[in-house]
Amino acid sequence: MFLTSHTAAAILIATKTQNPFLGFILGLLSHFILDIVPHGEGGLFAGSKSHKQKLLNLAKLAAIDFLLSVILLISTLYFLKPNNIFIFIATASGAVLPDFLWGSVELFKLKFLNWFLVLHHRLHDLLDIVYDIKYGLLVQLIFIILCLSLI
Ligand SMILES: [Zn+2]
Repeated sequence: MFLTSHTAAAILIATKTQNPFLGFILGLLSHFILDIVPHGEGGLFAGSKSHKQKLLNLAKLAAIDFLLSVILLISTLYFLKPNNIFIFIATASGAVLPDFLWGSVELFKLKFLNWFLVLHHRLHDLLDIVYDIKYGLLVQLIFIILCLSLI
C-alpha cells in the first residue's frame, strides 16, 4: 500500500495505544498485514523502458506519497491535539519503515538486507491478485477514510 494508507492505519493505532514502543511495533505489524491485502500496485510502472526508469518513477511517486502522509499526520495532530504526539510519530515510523527499508535496499544496493526485500515482496505477492491501479487508489482512499472515521 501507499505510505499515506500506512500512515492512516498508524494514526488509528496511535489513538488506541498509550505506549510509543507498542505503537511502533503495532505500526510495523500493520504494514506487513496491509501489504498482504491486494491493493492494485502490482503492475505499477510495468511498462517502464528500463529498471532505472522504473526506479525513478517509483521515487517520484514515493516522494509525493511521503509528502501526503506527512500532511495527513500533521493535520491529524493539529486537529486531535493529542497529549503525546510521540506515540503518533513512533507508530507512523513503524508503519512506514518497511517501505523505507525496501527503497534503501533498492537504491543503495544494501545486499545484507536482501532477505528483507524478499520477505517484503513475498508478502506483497502472497495473494497474487493483481488489478488496475485506479481501483487500487479507490480501495486505498476508502481505507484511509475508514481509518480516519474510526479515530
Ligand atoms: Zn510495504
